[in-house]
Parts: sequence; C-alpha cells; structure tokens
Amino acid sequence: MSEFCLDCWNRINKTHDTEKEWVLSQEPDLCEGCGKYLPVIVTQRKGVAKLKFVWNQKKKNNILRK
Ligand SMILES: [Zn+2]
Repeated sequence: MSEFCLDCWNRINKTHDTEKEWVLSQEPDLCEGCGKYLPVIVTQRKGVAKLKFVWNQKKKNNILRK
C-alpha cells in the first residue's frame, strides 16, 4: 500500500480529513507524496467510513427522489 502523510492524502483526494478520520503511524515513514519522513496514514478509523457511506447513500437517495 502506498504511504502518504495527511497533507498529501488530502491534496490527492481533494479532502480535508483530519487525524480524527485516519490513524497515523507512530513512527515517521517516507511519504510517497512529498518524499519527507512524516507520520503516514496507516488505516481509517473504524466507524467513520461507515458513517460516510451511510451519509452518501442518504444523499444519493434524496437525489433519486427528486
Ligand atoms: Zn506527504
């Protein structure tokens, strides 16, 4: 899996995620985005993905109803 720091992750995905959404590595690692040694994203915090998914589904359903 590619490793990116939070800044690069947000830049690539055009998101504004924070450490609340993503678990960052304890030790600095090589970020493939900026080439610096920074805490990189390890995994998504459980629960957030599901919430976002549910929210997106609701949004989609609302659009379909119109
Ligand atoms: Zn980076």
